[in-house]
Amino acid sequence: MSYSSVKNSTFLDVVPLKTATKNTDYQRRFHVMSKPGGSKCNLDCQYCFYLHKDELLHQPKQPVMDNATLEAFIKSYIESQDSNEIVFSWQGGEPTLLGVDYFRKVVQLQQKHCPKGVKIENDLQTNGILLNDEWCQFLKDNGFLVGLSIDGPRELHDKYRVTRSGKPTFHLVMAAVERLQDYQIPFNALVVVNRHNVKHPLEVYRFLTKELGATYIQFTPCVEAKDFATTAPQFWNESMTPEKGSDLTKPGHPMSIVTDWSVDPDDWGYFLNTVFVEWVNNDLGRVLVNLFETAVAQVMGKESQLCVTAEFCGKGLAMEHNGDVFSCDHYVYPEYKLGNVNERGLNELAFSIRQHGFGMAKRDSLPAYCKACPYLNLCWGECPKNRLIKSPDGELGLNYLCSGIRAFFDESLPMLTGLSVLLKKQQDALN
Ligand code: SF4
Ligand code: SF4
Repeated sequence: MSYSSVKNSTFLDVVPLKTATKNTDYQRRFHVMSKPGGSKCNLDCQYCFYLHKDELLHQPKQPVMDNATLEAFIKSYIESQDSNEIVFSWQGGEPTLLGVDYFRKVVQLQQKHCPKGVKIENDLQTNGILLNDEWCQFLKDNGFLVGLSIDGPRELHDKYRVTRSGKPTFHLVMAAVERLQDYQIPFNALVVVNRHNVKHPLEVYRFLTKELGATYIQFTPCVEAKDFATTAPQFWNESMTPEKGSDLTKPGHPMSIVTDWSVDPDDWGYFLNTVFVEWVNNDLGRVLVNLFETAVAQVMGKESQLCVTAEFCGKGLAMEHNGDVFSCDHYVYPEYKLGNVNERGLNELAFSIRQHGFGMAKRDSLPAYCKACPYLNLCWGECPKNRLIKSPDGELGLNYLCSGIRAFFDESLPMLTGLSVLLKKQQDALN
């Protein structure tokens, strides 16, 4: 299959696969990231990939998912899951802008449609700015898991995470942290690793673990094609694609293919290696770092816990305030719209031929360079939206982060292997 197969999959009909019907042997698992307030946010983080969706999707000034759509979504999501535990994820934009009462309604609707014996959980991704006592009490009472965006200590955080008038936000986020701690609400630290903080791995990591007391950290490398606001992934101008190692793959170069705030691929490798050593030496088993946990699991031969390092995509859909459903949170572009939850069940959309094609294309569109890579089973070409460059032999579809990912595994694989042997021994002893 060719590089463009991810793109071609969007031209397939949204015809439900057989697995869209319940009671098959196939385990039906998928997740939806819901954006009931659209892309509306009270901050103006320079690197945000979602703020521009208001123009791209022609959103109203104050987008809000209406009651009928909210109920259709909650009902359909519950009906389409096989598991006894169902997780709802709320994000945006900034979901807290909708107010606590909106989420009280969410919980009521979940209770109304929840079958006996099924447990519903919620997670809320927030910048923390609006988390007052009323919010914290609600989150605590209803067991919400909070994902809090924070990019490191003050100077690093305030580089890109600013208000709409360009003012710093670190002090506001720290006030939210204190409040969450007062209410004993667990939170995950969501860190966007960008061109700036990537150069300070230990400062970022030690701040999170020592000063913030974070025990779950999610690092996400910031990679945005320069025309990301208007051009859907895989619809890029292929004639402009540079090869691995070219100066045009560097953020800050006037002709670079990525935004100025994107992480440099080599810096990404340095960041991962530095934090990994610190984590192994000090925090193993105490602090969960998403990328390291999944790397250890994958070295043990288990499935990736993260879509970016999994063989296939397609299990994490995104839904906008008007009920439009897209192939992935990073593919919220008209070209990747699957349908609307008011018109079709989520299972039909998630298990449709088009979404299946989208998911399979992650593996099937890999360039030969990846197929021959010693780390293929640990990387799988990372996220297709980051496949912005050509391999050294000139083939399209190589991941922008490749050099950093390779540098990480070159250095850390022996330790990852050692950890996996140790863990296996521990598990065998328990059995
Ligand atoms: S496109 Fe990227 S973010 Fe979306 S499911 Fe695939 S790997 Fe994950
Ligand atoms: S490390 Fe590079 S070559 Fe190897 S699978 Fe990942 S993106 Fe492909």
